[in-house]
Amino acid sequence: AKDKGGNLIQFFDPLLALAIEERRHLESELRRAIREHEFVLYYQPIVDLVEDTLVGAEALIRWRHPERGLVPPDDFIPLAEESGLIGEIGLWALEVASEQLAKWRAQAIQLYLSVNVSARQIPDGLPPETLFETARRHGCAPQSLALEITEGVLLSDFGSTAQWLSKIREQGFPVYLDDFGTGYSSLSYLKRFAVDRLKIDKSFVRDIATNASDRALVEAIIAMAKSLGIEVVAEGVEDAEHVRLLRGMGCRYAQGYFFSRPLPIDAFYAFRDRIPLL
Ligand code: C2E
Ligand code: CA
Ligand code: CA
Ligand code: CA
Repeated sequence: AKDKGGNLIQFFDPLLALAIEERRHLESELRRAIREHEFVLYYQPIVDLVEDTLVGAEALIRWRHPERGLVPPDDFIPLAEESGLIGEIGLWALEVASEQLAKWRAQAIQLYLSVNVSARQIPDGLPPETLFETARRHGCAPQSLALEITEGVLLSDFGSTAQWLSKIREQGFPVYLDDFGTGYSSLSYLKRFAVDRLKIDKSFVRDIATNASDRALVEAIIAMAKSLGIEVVAEGVEDAEHVRLLRGMGCRYAQGYFFSRPLPIDAFYAFRDRIPLL
């Protein structure tokens, strides 16, 4: 029995068994959530620091769980990615964002939306043709529908990723490089993959008032982006000092709790009605 036991010990580890069981449970709950339309998009304002205006919003998913309440994306997106369910969830988010843009167009509200796209969705989970068809069906201008991808995306197959990106940008859909600076070789990605904007990760923005090297990094990213013709959005802007420093560095766009948390659509409209107040 001893010689056969080696592999079995892990299998019967009660903690591991519990973890596996929990995953299986969460995965079947995610399938139900897709079926029963339990997801909802929240909208976080993106502002122009030069014009002092609202320019758009990032669409951020939440799960309205029947027992657990509002579940944040970090608690289920990773499993959705591993299990492949992210494809369906991502298409749902694209559909809802496009519907929202269609409503804004009808009301002559000129705001853009940016939607998060997982590495796992590229290229086959979100074929460019599907994006084009969805936007066309809702009458959305491509410039009003941006896609946020993280550097992780660019780690996968270079050729097919580059092709996916260029098809989408050719049709006029802006591509944002999200969480910029957190990957291992952000700069080489920028050289190899053309994007329209980059979002400076909130971990760099957080300490710019107190940490000179973080401030220097953010300043360098902004200067570099400018020379490459790439617009910059600062994430995680939480106070007036952040705003003052970022303005001074020539950062044009910002997003963060200082302006607003991500909001359900009605609260987002209320926020918009209070503009300008920056
Ligand atoms: P992310 O794309 O980097 O989104 C920004 C996150 O920072 C959001 O968290 C937002 O609520 C939070 N945030 C915004 N302003 C501030 C601030 O001033 N301070 C701090 N500390 N945080 C701020 P959230 O909504 O919990 O989303 C977490 C992550 O989940 C997102 O990070 C994104 O990677 C992922 N995610 C959200 N929605 C989707 C989606 O529809 N599809 C995919 N694939 N991923 C999504
Ligand atoms: Ca994002
Ligand atoms: Ca981000
Ligand atoms: Ca992130």
